[in-house]
Amino acid sequence: MKNPTIPGLNIPVHTIFCIGKNYEKHARELGSEPPSSPLVFLKPTTTICFNGDVIDLPEHSRDVHHEVELVLAIGKTGKNIPLERALEYVSGYGIGIDFTARDLQQKAKEKGHPWTISKGFDKFAPISSFIPFDSDSFPDTDLRLTVNGETRQKASTSEMIFNINILISFLSGIFTLEKGDLIFTGTPEGVSAVKAGDELTATLDNDLTSLTVSIAK
Ligand code: MG
Repeated sequence: MKNPTIPGLNIPVHTIFCIGKNYEKHARELGSEPPSSPLVFLKPTTTICFNGDVIDLPEHSRDVHHEVELVLAIGKTGKNIPLERALEYVSGYGIGIDFTARDLQQKAKEKGHPWTISKGFDKFAPISSFIPFDSDSFPDTDLRLTVNGETRQKASTSEMIFNINILISFLSGIFTLEKGDLIFTGTPEGVSAVKAGDELTATLDNDLTSLTVSIAK
């Protein structure tokens, strides 16, 4: 199957990088100290879905959480990118939800195992339409997530522990970044469980772009 296309940019999704515990209050709500360097994991491309989609809760979990996040799209190949050139590699940004089977993640953590399964179920990474980006400065922006109209998560990207320049520079020191890579930049506090029939709306900066998905009944 062909990889899905990033809405608004019309380029196929390549690798999906995700950053964990990138907001202090979220790290603490999970009972963790904030990390001293970016915490990186990956999701498969089969997690991508779009505005209007319906997400099935996997039978493997009883505790699937929403994590609203700013998502960056990489526009060209880069390796060892210096901080001051990081934004040249961003072709667009949008909002997404990093769904997480928290119970499976917790069990994996206790055993010292990877989190991959808890993050990797089908449609566990819905993304909005992306806003093309071509600038040398990134405006801090507000993220919000509502469940059935009630606000659960709200924060500014200025609260990130590692800002987007640092994330891009850090990742490119390890991986070759490629056109179509997505970077989920971490979630602020307020994560909580979703249930059958819930409707979730993620919004960037009061409707710059938004995403609505629902959980299957
Ligand atoms: Mg996350």
